[in-house]
Order: sequence, then C-alpha cells, then structure tokens
Amino acid sequence: MTSLERPQNGIHHVTAIAGPARRNHAFYTEVLGLRLVKKTVNFDDPGTYHLYFGDEAGSPGTILTFFPWEHANPGRLGIGQTQETAFRVPEGSLGFWTQRFIERGVAHDSIVKRFGETVLPFSDPDGMRLALVCTPGAEAEAGWTGGGIEAAHAIRGFHGVSLMVADGTRTGAILVDVFGFEAAEAEGQVRRYRVPGTTIGGVIDIRSAGDFLPGREGAGSVHHIAFRAADDAAQAAMVDKLTRDHGQRVTEQRDRNYFRSVYFREPGGVLFEIATDAPGFAVDEPVGHLGEALKLPAGLEPMRARIEAVLPAVA
Ligand code: ZN
Repeated sequence: MTSLERPQNGIHHVTAIAGPARRNHAFYTEVLGLRLVKKTVNFDDPGTYHLYFGDEAGSPGTILTFFPWEHANPGRLGIGQTQETAFRVPEGSLGFWTQRFIERGVAHDSIVKRFGETVLPFSDPDGMRLALVCTPGAEAEAGWTGGGIEAAHAIRGFHGVSLMVADGTRTGAILVDVFGFEAAEAEGQVRRYRVPGTTIGGVIDIRSAGDFLPGREGAGSVHHIAFRAADDAAQAAMVDKLTRDHGQRVTEQRDRNYFRSVYFREPGGVLFEIATDAPGFAVDEPVGHLGEALKLPAGLEPMRARIEAVLPAVA
C-alpha cells in the first residue's frame, strides 16, 4: 500500500494538562527530544499556553499537546480517563532510554512485556503516565533528531493510548464502527484495538476496570484523545454514525487553526475529538521555523500585547 492509499485513521493528537510551562517544555524537548511544533494559547483561556510537541512537521499521530497551568492541582487516575500514552521507538533503543532516564532523574518502571511487545513505562514531571514501546521497522522511518537524540533511538510518534473505563463494550464498538479499528487480542482486563495498516497511533487498549474510583482531572491527566479524519466530509460521516447508531451528542465543528474539530464524551467517560488532517501546522509559519514564535488566531491578535505580558517564558 502506498502512503496515498493508506487509510487515514488512528490517533491524531493527545491533549493533556500540565503544571508549569517551562518544566513541561524542557521535559518534552530536552529529555524526550520531541519538537515544539506550535506555541499558541488555549483558545478558550487565552492567558495560558497551548503547546504542541511532535515530529518535524507535527504529523497526525505524533502530536502531544498540553494546557500548562502554573498552579494546576494534580489529577488522579480513575474511571473515564486515559491511563497511559505510549510512544513508538526503534527496537534495541530501551537501553539508551533507561540510561537517559536514570541520568536525568525521570521516574520509570522496569521494562515489561505487554501483548508481546517490549515496553518501558515512565512518567513526566506532572506524573503523566507514559511509555516507550519497541516497534519493529520504526528505525526505517524518519525521526526528529533536532532534539539531540540520534535517529537510532528517537521517538516515532504514538504507539497508542490505554483508556480506563468501567465497561469497554460501547467504547470499543465506537472504535470499530466509526474510527476504523478492529478488536484484537485481550490480556487480563485489557482489550486491544488496532487500525489495520496504520503504523502510527493505531492502537487503543481499553481496560474494563469495573467498580473503581472515577478519575479527577488535573496536572498529569489527559484531557482528550483526538482521532483522525482525512477531511471535513470524512468527519461529517463519522458524526452521522455517532449520532444515528451510537446515540452520541457531538459538538458543532470548531476551527482550531491547524485542524477542524468536533468533540463528544464517549460512553466510558473519556472526551473524544475528531480532528481533520488539514490544514496542519505549516498554515501560519514555515516548517523550518515551527514553534519559534507565539502564534495567535486572528481573533486574538488585537490582544497580543496583553497575552504576551501574562504568559510565562518557556525557555
Ligand atoms: Zn484536541
């Protein structure tokens, strides 16, 4: 299958809540070696940043974004939340990463096997649960090396996320029917779903945790998971299915400058978004300079001086 024929399904981006912006920026660019591909503000709270990290171009399936609040209270993991966000790395790179985490004091666990894959779980400075998953063939893909990590080890976008819900049946049905996933194997309480033929961001693990405490959103929590739609028509078709066949209430489309989005809270309690691949992050600055300047949507430009005065420095 050529890249043009590849189905445009899977994760588009993951958005989480962080504490201080400077610490968040330093961790994702300097420790993990991701690229800051957009520095903008939270359109719904323009006195705070919205930082986007990804590969060189901010390709769909590589984008982890944050709303950093200087004084955010810590979240608590529970039902209706994303449990872990996992990145793809080349096979044989976990020795490098383990050493790096030890040297830099990054909280991490022992390497484990899950679904036959080799996984290094770790946490960011806000306690957000992350993992690196060894992925055969990843070494042949382009990786962003601008962060100072050589290509043999660099992160290659998302492997996937795991969701913690009481009962994953209806969530899984939406993944299969609307987002192009197929139910795959199970391990304990966890059912894996994957998008056939999609390498980046093609895995969702659903943990049906039964009677467990609900989560509390805060620093270290994932705010929402966005799924890819090739264009507006594909997004509209997904909304039709969600409304007609799954009883979901979906928001009107919102223009997020770099993609166009709709949102719904899926039956397990996790906030889902559907984001278009277009127009992408080069819409308001060239790829060679992504993330260097504070970018604002046109409606907020008149307030630029006031916004810049309240935003903390990130670097
Ligand atoms: Zn989003």
